[in-house]
Amino acid sequence: MISLEEVRQNILERIPVLPAEEVDLHLAGGRTLARSVQSTDAIPPFDNTAMDGFVVRFEDIAEASEESPVTLPVTAIIEAGMPGDQPLNPGEAMRIYTGAVIPPGGTAVVPFEICQQEGREAVTFTRPAADGAHIRRQGEDVPQGGDVLSAGTRLSPAAIGLLASVGATRVSVYQAPRVAVHSSGNELVPIDSALTPGKIRNSNLYSLCARLNSWGAIAVPRPVLSDDLESIRLGLQETLDEKPDAIITTGGISAGDLDYIREVAREMGEDVHIRKVAMKPGKPLVDGTLGGVPFFGLPGNPAACLVSFEMFVRPALARMEGRKDGMPPMRSGVLAEGCSLGPGQRMRWLRGRAQPDPAGGPDKIDLPTGQGSHLLTGFSTANCLVHVPASETELAAGSSVEYWSLTEEEA
Ligand code: AMP
Ligand code: MG
Repeated sequence: MISLEEVRQNILERIPVLPAEEVDLHLAGGRTLARSVQSTDAIPPFDNTAMDGFVVRFEDIAEASEESPVTLPVTAIIEAGMPGDQPLNPGEAMRIYTGAVIPPGGTAVVPFEICQQEGREAVTFTRPAADGAHIRRQGEDVPQGGDVLSAGTRLSPAAIGLLASVGATRVSVYQAPRVAVHSSGNELVPIDSALTPGKIRNSNLYSLCARLNSWGAIAVPRPVLSDDLESIRLGLQETLDEKPDAIITTGGISAGDLDYIREVAREMGEDVHIRKVAMKPGKPLVDGTLGGVPFFGLPGNPAACLVSFEMFVRPALARMEGRKDGMPPMRSGVLAEGCSLGPGQRMRWLRGRAQPDPAGGPDKIDLPTGQGSHLLTGFSTANCLVHVPASETELAAGSSVEYWSLTEEEA
């Protein structure tokens, strides 16, 4: 058996970064920047007010109090979008609205709520304002000519907004990996088929495509491969002709006689490894390249196939897409209830549901029943994989554990 970490490193070493492409900004959410973006503008482009109120020279109301109020004439109205270039002279105030330009000479904004308006012509202040009060400074978000975002950044909605604010209409991002997915096995029928004796529905195709798409890759469903060498060869060759960025198969990689995917991958591929990974679920794995395309032969058992995807395919996709760090951080939490695991030589990934503790303590983790590698009901409500070292046979309620979030995005 070989450790998960060793396999992952070995896989990552042969994963290429995909070429970049230019896309319209509104389509770039979730993608990874291939080139850093600089701004020719400062953002905000001008000093502006954070509040609706009156802009003054702060010295003019420095002595204002309830006992000795200061009244100033209102000489202009500055709305958002106006140039705001009329100077504010000493001893004057201007009515100003959120987002509007601070006029030359203005040094503080006093919100409407704390002034007394004397009609439209004058305003009375009963307290001083600090120099710069409620003024948002030019360049506070992005300095002029500065780096906005660096290559390798995954574009969150806020990042897209930031790029929009500097006028980046198109951005250079890494291509999203197109991943072909084949299930294999003579027992599989399409999911709209009634079940006849010996048959099951092809669920892995759907779970993997869902995971690929939720990660940000483009899933390309491919036909089921039946358990014979020739149809597997043909099926994989047809998929290679489509030039995907990666190929995933499920099933057919254990030690059984009918596990032909192993044989064909070895025959057609380069640098193909038939693994026994020291983890549960997910011991069998085949990885390598087919015609230069990264290949992942994942286990057939539905839970194992998803766990192996997280451990090996997800970091590989992140590498392809040029993401800075393909691995979400390991988090820690405590088990809500104990569980008995029995002896094992492999580290385990238990499907768990982590929830923050309202009292501020460590996250609480429930382990749904049904942890078998063939079971999906417990997995369906899980949001994390709990790491249990091989040496543990029993975990008491309250035990500290580490877990890997299934929902948290990597950087
Ligand atoms: P295998 O690795 O091919 O021996 O498959 C292991 C187990 O996973 C068997 O019980 C298969 O029936 C099941 N299995 C394989 N492929 C799928 C699939 N696409 N959907 C659901 N179950 C599958
Ligand atoms: Mg099979």
